[in-house]
Amino acid sequence: MKEKVIGISGAGIGGLAAAIALRKLGKQVLVFEQAKQFARVGADINLTPNAVRALDGLGVGEALRETAARPGYRISRDGFTGEETSRLEMAEAAQQKYGAPQLTMHRADLMTALEGAVPAECIRLGKRTTGVQDLGDKVVVEFDDGTQETVDALIGADGIHSMVRNALLGQEKPQFTGVVAYRAVVPIEKLGNLPNLDSFTKWWGAVPEVQIVSFPLNRGKDLFIFATTPQEGWELESWTAPGEVGELREIYKDFHPEARALLDACDSVLKSALYVRDPLPTWHKGRMALLGDACHPMMPFMAQGAGQAIEDAVVLARCLADSRYADVPSAFTAYQSVRHERASRIQIASRGNAWLKEGGNGDWVYEYDAWAVPLA
Ligand code: FAD
Repeated sequence: MKEKVIGISGAGIGGLAAAIALRKLGKQVLVFEQAKQFARVGADINLTPNAVRALDGLGVGEALRETAARPGYRISRDGFTGEETSRLEMAEAAQQKYGAPQLTMHRADLMTALEGAVPAECIRLGKRTTGVQDLGDKVVVEFDDGTQETVDALIGADGIHSMVRNALLGQEKPQFTGVVAYRAVVPIEKLGNLPNLDSFTKWWGAVPEVQIVSFPLNRGKDLFIFATTPQEGWELESWTAPGEVGELREIYKDFHPEARALLDACDSVLKSALYVRDPLPTWHKGRMALLGDACHPMMPFMAQGAGQAIEDAVVLARCLADSRYADVPSAFTAYQSVRHERASRIQIASRGNAWLKEGGNGDWVYEYDAWAVPLA
């Protein structure tokens, strides 16, 4: 394909992964990010083997392993009795089976590794995309500062509130799910002799939306705690808004003592409402395509949002670099045909929220290899 510059709106996880993959495959990229600078926001990210393998192919896996933890097991427990209902061996076993382990880390460490793999001259910070025009042989991207850029194709990697998605497919707002999430990080030494602190553990309540998840961060020095519950009256979506520790403890007061001990150790907590959208019938039009949360935002219950964005990025880059596709629209058609079914299935299953509750076979999600999946 003769196209020269691929524009990417959004320098989040998916946008940066796409930039790295495209450059690796010989394409020029320009990434337009609304933020004026990169900042260390969020707390955790749980990357399952399918995501880690895709990141290894981008060449950032080694940097991630420097700060990440490798949970030994993925465990489900009954929230009240403490009975173990599922246990899947991760770490070395996942490495053997899927070619990569599960890695859990501070979200900012993932972003730092991705940012470091894209040359600064390829990233335009402080450029919020406000308009896009597909002129047939190129795309004009307009920004909030009144400037514009012309690119040969545009990838909308601009997250759940995607402007590019609205421009392509019409205005539609994400839906509040009625579920809120609390997040906290606790030094591991505060947790004494609690079991399974080196593993990913999910405590399931009476309804599946009521659950507590914990996993190690920062090479096992900290434990990340993530608790969800249905709750009306809080619709703020935020990575930084504080919640109340007392409220958190009250919600799970009937849980098993080992689960409550996790919450007792929290000094502070962040709180956010969870939003989703339904699967989209199409992710592309002409010279523009969507990836990640811009086209399939999902509930966090399978920990696949970032993983699916990274898989999209790799497959999209492979399609754009594959000489079998004569032009951008046919490369985008191939991208959708490879990715749509899997991402939509995971989007729906994440909302169904029964992933590895009982039984422990994660193969159909974890064994996917975005670098090897056939394109045609
Ligand atoms: P984003 O990461 O949201 O990036 C979008 C980027 O676009 C941002 O940098 C934004 O500033 C920029 N942008 C937006 N609008 C514009 C514009 N108009 N112009 C220019 N730039 C723009 N996933 C996992 O895999 N594992 C997990 O453990 C996990 N935990 C989660 C926990 C919670 C509570 C939530 C809410 C999500 C979680 N996810 C997880 C999901 C994951 O965070 C997202 O799926 C992932 O960030 C999607 O990446 P993205 O690049 O599509 O979007």
